[in-house]
Amino acid sequence: MSPSGNGFVYLVGAGPGDPELLTLKAVKALGRADVILVDDLAGDAVLEFANAAARIVHVGKRGGCKSTPQEFIERLMVSEARAGHVVVRLKGGDPFVFGRGGEECEALRAAGIPYEVVNGITAGLAAPTSIGIPLTHREVCHGAILITGHSGEEGGNPAADAGPDWRALAATKLPLVIYMGIAKCELIQRELLAGGMAGETPVAVIQHASRPEQRELVTTLSRMAADIRVTGIGSPGIIVVGETVRYARAAAQEGERTINSRNRAATR
Ligand code: SAH
Repeated sequence: MSPSGNGFVYLVGAGPGDPELLTLKAVKALGRADVILVDDLAGDAVLEFANAAARIVHVGKRGGCKSTPQEFIERLMVSEARAGHVVVRLKGGDPFVFGRGGEECEALRAAGIPYEVVNGITAGLAAPTSIGIPLTHREVCHGAILITGHSGEEGGNPAADAGPDWRALAATKLPLVIYMGIAKCELIQRELLAGGMAGETPVAVIQHASRPEQRELVTTLSRMAADIRVTGIGSPGIIVVGETVRYARAAAQEGERTINSRNRAATR
Protein backbone atom coordinates (compact mmCIF):
# COMPACT_ATOMS: atom_id res chain seq x y z
CA MET A 1 0.00 0.00 0.00
CA SER A 2 1.19 3.52 -0.59
CA PRO A 3 1.82 5.46 2.62
CA SER A 4 -1.20 7.72 2.07
CA GLY A 5 -3.47 4.84 1.12
CA ASN A 6 -3.80 6.36 -2.34
CA GLY A 7 -2.51 4.54 -5.33
CA PHE A 8 0.42 5.69 -7.40
CA VAL A 9 1.91 4.48 -10.68
CA TYR A 10 5.58 4.48 -11.62
CA LEU A 11 6.20 4.04 -15.33
CA VAL A 12 9.66 2.57 -15.11
CA GLY A 13 12.27 1.98 -17.80
CA ALA A 14 13.99 -1.33 -17.12
CA GLY A 15 16.86 -0.65 -19.53
CA PRO A 16 18.03 -3.22 -22.09
CA GLY A 17 18.12 -6.23 -19.75
CA ASP A 18 21.32 -6.13 -17.72
CA PRO A 19 20.10 -5.36 -14.18
CA GLU A 20 23.23 -3.29 -13.53
CA LEU A 21 21.98 -0.81 -16.12
CA LEU A 22 18.87 0.01 -14.05
CA THR A 23 18.69 3.49 -12.55
CA LEU A 24 18.61 3.95 -8.76
CA LYS A 25 15.13 5.41 -9.14
CA ALA A 26 13.98 2.26 -10.90
CA VAL A 27 15.42 0.07 -8.14
CA LYS A 28 13.68 2.17 -5.46
CA ALA A 29 10.35 2.04 -7.27
CA LEU A 30 10.63 -1.75 -7.67
CA GLY A 31 11.28 -2.02 -3.95
CA ARG A 32 8.15 0.01 -3.14
CA ALA A 33 5.77 -1.74 -5.52
CA ASP A 34 2.72 -3.74 -4.47
CA VAL A 35 2.06 -4.75 -8.07
CA ILE A 36 4.47 -4.94 -11.00
CA LEU A 37 3.14 -5.12 -14.54
CA VAL A 38 6.01 -6.42 -16.65
CA ASP A 39 6.58 -6.20 -20.40
CA ASP A 40 8.49 -9.03 -22.09
CA LEU A 41 11.31 -6.77 -23.10
CA ALA A 42 11.85 -5.77 -19.49
CA GLY A 43 13.27 -9.24 -18.84
CA ASP A 44 13.10 -11.16 -15.59
CA ALA A 45 16.66 -10.40 -14.44
CA VAL A 46 15.69 -6.92 -13.22
CA LEU A 47 12.98 -8.40 -10.98
CA GLU A 48 15.64 -9.35 -8.45
CA PHE A 49 15.05 -5.82 -7.09
CA ALA A 50 11.30 -6.28 -6.71
CA ASN A 51 9.69 -6.04 -3.30
CA ALA A 52 9.41 -9.70 -2.17
CA ALA A 53 5.71 -9.24 -1.43
CA ALA A 54 4.91 -7.67 -4.81
CA ARG A 55 2.46 -9.33 -7.15
CA ILE A 56 4.12 -9.73 -10.54
CA VAL A 57 1.91 -9.73 -13.62
CA HIS A 58 3.43 -10.44 -17.04
CA VAL A 59 1.62 -8.39 -19.62
CA GLY A 60 4.02 -9.06 -22.46
CA LYS A 61 3.39 -9.66 -26.10
CA ARG A 62 5.96 -12.30 -26.94
CA GLY A 63 6.63 -15.88 -25.95
CA GLY A 64 3.89 -17.27 -28.17
CA CYS A 65 1.18 -15.55 -26.13
CA LYS A 66 -1.28 -13.28 -27.81
CA SER A 67 -0.73 -9.60 -27.19
CA THR A 68 -2.19 -8.30 -24.01
CA PRO A 69 -4.28 -5.47 -25.40
CA GLN A 70 -3.00 -2.04 -24.52
CA GLU A 71 -6.42 -0.97 -23.19
CA PHE A 72 -6.42 -3.96 -20.84
CA ILE A 73 -3.02 -2.96 -19.46
CA GLU A 74 -4.16 0.61 -19.00
CA ARG A 75 -7.37 -0.49 -17.22
CA LEU A 76 -5.37 -2.81 -14.95
CA MET A 77 -2.96 -0.02 -14.04
CA VAL A 78 -5.85 2.29 -13.18
CA SER A 79 -7.82 -0.29 -11.18
CA GLU A 80 -4.78 -1.39 -9.15
CA ALA A 81 -3.94 2.24 -8.34
CA ARG A 82 -7.57 2.94 -7.39
CA ALA A 83 -7.36 -0.03 -5.01
CA GLY A 84 -4.63 1.96 -3.22
CA HIS A 85 -1.65 0.05 -4.56
CA VAL A 86 1.74 1.28 -5.63
CA VAL A 87 2.01 0.04 -9.21
CA VAL A 88 5.18 -0.28 -11.23
CA ARG A 89 4.62 -0.52 -14.95
CA LEU A 90 7.97 -1.96 -16.03
CA LYS A 91 8.90 -1.46 -19.65
CA GLY A 92 11.98 -2.41 -21.66
CA GLY A 93 14.51 0.35 -22.29
CA ASP A 94 12.99 3.78 -21.74
CA PRO A 95 9.21 4.18 -21.33
CA PHE A 96 9.16 7.21 -23.64
CA VAL A 97 11.16 5.72 -26.51
CA PHE A 98 8.90 3.52 -28.67
CA GLY A 99 7.33 2.31 -25.45
CA ARG A 100 3.78 3.69 -25.59
CA GLY A 101 4.56 5.47 -22.35
CA GLY A 102 2.91 8.62 -23.65
CA GLU A 103 -0.38 6.80 -24.15
CA GLU A 104 -0.22 5.27 -20.70
CA CYS A 105 0.37 8.69 -19.13
CA GLU A 106 -2.71 10.01 -20.93
CA ALA A 107 -4.79 7.14 -19.53
CA LEU A 108 -3.48 7.83 -16.02
CA ARG A 109 -4.13 11.57 -16.32
CA ALA A 110 -7.66 10.91 -17.58
CA ALA A 111 -8.28 8.67 -14.56
CA GLY A 112 -6.80 11.21 -12.14
CA ILE A 113 -4.07 8.81 -10.96
CA PRO A 114 -0.78 10.36 -9.86
CA TYR A 115 2.26 8.96 -11.61
CA GLU A 116 5.94 9.40 -12.27
CA VAL A 117 7.99 8.37 -15.28
CA VAL A 118 11.42 6.90 -14.56
CA ASN A 119 13.88 6.90 -17.45
CA GLY A 120 15.70 3.79 -18.51
CA ILE A 121 18.63 3.23 -20.84
CA THR A 122 17.08 2.80 -24.23
CA ALA A 123 18.18 -0.09 -26.45
CA GLY A 124 19.32 2.38 -29.10
CA LEU A 125 22.02 3.60 -26.71
CA ALA A 126 22.86 0.31 -25.02
CA ALA A 127 23.15 -1.78 -28.19
CA PRO A 128 25.83 0.27 -29.98
CA THR A 129 27.74 0.81 -26.72
CA SER A 130 27.77 -2.93 -26.06
CA ILE A 131 30.03 -3.40 -29.08
CA GLY A 132 32.06 -0.20 -28.81
CA ILE A 133 30.13 2.05 -31.20
CA PRO A 134 29.95 5.68 -30.07
CA LEU A 135 26.61 7.10 -31.18
CA THR A 136 28.24 10.43 -31.93
CA HIS A 137 31.87 11.08 -32.67
CA ARG A 138 33.36 14.43 -33.57
CA GLU A 139 35.21 12.95 -36.52
CA VAL A 140 32.31 11.16 -38.20
CA CYS A 141 28.92 12.44 -37.04
CA HIS A 142 27.33 15.27 -35.15
CA GLY A 143 24.17 13.51 -34.14
CA ALA A 144 22.18 10.34 -34.62
CA ILE A 145 18.63 9.45 -35.52
CA LEU A 146 16.53 7.01 -33.49
CA ILE A 147 13.89 5.59 -35.77
CA THR A 148 11.49 2.67 -35.95
CA GLY A 149 11.49 0.24 -38.87
CA HIS A 150 7.99 -0.73 -37.98
CA SER A 151 4.97 0.88 -39.58
CA GLY A 152 1.24 0.71 -39.57
CA GLU A 153 0.58 -2.15 -37.18
CA GLU A 154 0.19 -2.04 -33.39
CA GLY A 155 -3.17 -0.36 -33.45
CA GLY A 156 -2.03 2.38 -35.82
CA ASN A 157 -3.67 2.99 -39.13
CA PRO A 158 -1.55 1.29 -41.84
CA ALA A 159 -2.88 3.62 -44.51
CA ALA A 160 -1.96 6.70 -42.51
CA ASP A 161 1.48 5.37 -41.57
CA ALA A 162 3.58 4.31 -44.53
CA GLY A 163 6.69 4.10 -42.33
CA PRO A 164 9.79 6.25 -42.34
CA ASP A 165 11.02 8.02 -45.46
CA TRP A 166 14.29 6.07 -45.72
CA ARG A 167 15.52 8.05 -48.71
CA ALA A 168 15.18 11.33 -46.79
CA LEU A 169 16.92 9.72 -43.81
CA ALA A 170 19.80 8.59 -46.05
CA ALA A 171 20.22 12.19 -47.19
CA THR A 172 20.83 13.42 -43.61
CA LYS A 173 24.12 11.45 -43.55
CA LEU A 174 23.54 10.88 -39.83
CA PRO A 175 23.87 7.41 -38.32
CA LEU A 176 20.53 5.63 -38.10
CA VAL A 177 19.67 3.64 -35.01
CA ILE A 178 16.79 1.47 -36.11
CA TYR A 179 14.41 -0.19 -33.64
CA MET A 180 12.07 -2.99 -34.79
CA GLY A 181 13.78 -3.04 -38.18
CA ILE A 182 14.89 -6.64 -38.63
CA ALA A 183 11.69 -7.88 -40.25
CA LYS A 184 11.85 -4.95 -42.69
CA CYS A 185 15.59 -5.16 -43.42
CA GLU A 186 15.20 -5.81 -47.16
CA LEU A 187 13.03 -2.74 -47.60
CA ILE A 188 15.33 -0.61 -45.42
CA GLN A 189 18.41 -1.71 -47.37
CA ARG A 190 16.77 -1.06 -50.73
CA GLU A 191 15.44 2.37 -49.78
CA LEU A 192 18.66 3.59 -48.14
CA LEU A 193 20.63 2.58 -51.25
CA ALA A 194 18.03 4.30 -53.44
CA GLY A 195 18.45 7.38 -51.23
CA GLY A 196 22.12 7.54 -52.16
CA MET A 197 23.74 5.83 -49.19
CA ALA A 198 26.89 3.93 -50.21
CA GLY A 199 26.74 0.14 -50.29
CA GLU A 200 29.97 0.02 -48.22
CA THR A 201 28.41 1.96 -45.35
CA PRO A 202 29.06 -0.14 -42.25
CA VAL A 203 26.11 -1.70 -40.45
CA ALA A 204 25.86 -3.41 -37.07
CA VAL A 205 23.00 -5.53 -35.80
CA ILE A 206 22.87 -6.24 -32.08
CA GLN A 207 20.37 -8.70 -30.69
CA HIS A 208 19.57 -9.01 -26.96
CA ALA A 209 21.98 -6.18 -26.15
CA SER A 210 23.45 -6.34 -22.63
CA ARG A 211 22.05 -9.82 -21.96
CA PRO A 212 24.03 -13.04 -21.67
CA GLU A 213 22.53 -14.20 -24.99
CA GLN A 214 23.69 -11.08 -26.88
CA ARG A 215 24.64 -11.63 -30.53
CA GLU A 216 26.01 -9.16 -33.00
CA LEU A 217 26.75 -8.86 -36.68
CA VAL A 218 28.94 -6.26 -38.35
CA THR A 219 28.47 -5.99 -42.11
CA THR A 220 27.82 -3.41 -44.84
CA LEU A 221 24.62 -1.91 -46.18
CA SER A 222 24.79 -3.87 -49.45
CA ARG A 223 25.09 -7.18 -47.58
CA MET A 224 22.89 -6.35 -44.60
CA ALA A 225 19.67 -8.19 -45.46
CA ALA A 226 21.42 -11.31 -46.78
CA ASP A 227 23.70 -11.48 -43.73
CA ILE A 228 20.78 -11.05 -41.35
CA ARG A 229 19.00 -13.96 -43.02
CA VAL A 230 22.10 -16.19 -43.18
CA THR A 231 23.12 -15.63 -39.55
CA GLY A 232 19.54 -15.80 -38.30
CA ILE A 233 20.16 -12.79 -36.06
CA GLY A 234 16.74 -11.63 -34.99
CA SER A 235 14.46 -9.78 -32.66
CA PRO A 236 14.80 -7.95 -30.36
CA GLY A 237 17.56 -6.25 -32.27
CA ILE A 238 18.90 -2.81 -33.07
CA ILE A 239 20.36 -1.99 -36.48
CA VAL A 240 22.96 0.80 -36.60
CA VAL A 241 23.83 2.19 -40.03
CA GLY A 242 26.64 4.68 -40.46
CA GLU A 243 30.36 5.39 -40.46
CA THR A 244 30.50 5.34 -36.66
CA VAL A 245 29.99 1.56 -36.84
CA ARG A 246 33.64 1.34 -37.95
CA TYR A 247 34.58 1.78 -34.31
CA ALA A 248 32.91 -1.55 -33.54
CA ARG A 249 35.35 -3.23 -35.82
CA ALA A 250 38.28 -1.38 -34.27
CA ALA A 251 37.13 -2.35 -30.79
CA ALA A 252 36.68 -5.98 -31.84
CA GLN A 253 40.12 -6.10 -33.44
CA GLU A 254 41.74 -4.80 -30.31
CA GLY A 255 39.80 -7.20 -28.13
CA GLU A 256 38.37 -4.24 -26.25
CA ARG A 257 35.40 -4.76 -23.98
CA THR A 258 32.82 -2.16 -23.16
CA ILE A 259 31.09 -1.88 -19.83
CA ASN A 260 27.90 -3.70 -20.73
CA SER A 261 29.63 -6.37 -22.78
CA ARG A 262 27.87 -9.68 -23.12
CA ASN A 263 30.76 -11.18 -21.19
CA ARG A 264 29.76 -9.15 -18.17
CA ALA A 265 28.37 -12.17 -16.32
CA ALA A 266 31.66 -14.01 -16.68
CA THR A 267 33.65 -11.11 -15.25
CA ARG A 268 31.56 -10.65 -12.12
N1 SAH B 1 11.22 1.23 -25.03
C1 SAH B 1 12.22 0.36 -25.63
C2 SAH B 1 11.92 0.07 -27.08
C3 SAH B 1 10.68 -0.77 -27.28
S1 SAH B 1 10.40 -1.12 -28.97
C4 SAH B 1 13.60 1.01 -25.47
O1 SAH B 1 13.69 2.18 -25.12
O2 SAH B 1 14.60 0.32 -25.67
C5 SAH B 1 11.08 -2.74 -29.10
C6 SAH B 1 12.37 -2.73 -29.86
O3 SAH B 1 13.42 -2.24 -29.05
C7 SAH B 1 12.84 -4.10 -30.31
O4 SAH B 1 12.18 -4.52 -31.48
C8 SAH B 1 14.31 -3.82 -30.56
O5 SAH B 1 14.48 -3.11 -31.76
C9 SAH B 1 14.63 -2.88 -29.42
N2 SAH B 1 15.18 -3.57 -28.25
C10 SAH B 1 14.66 -3.59 -27.01
N3 SAH B 1 15.48 -4.24 -26.16
C11 SAH B 1 16.55 -4.63 -26.88
C12 SAH B 1 17.76 -5.31 -26.57
N4 SAH B 1 18.05 -5.74 -25.34
N5 SAH B 1 18.66 -5.51 -27.58
C13 SAH B 1 18.41 -5.07 -28.83
N6 SAH B 1 17.29 -4.43 -29.17
C14 SAH B 1 16.38 -4.20 -28.21
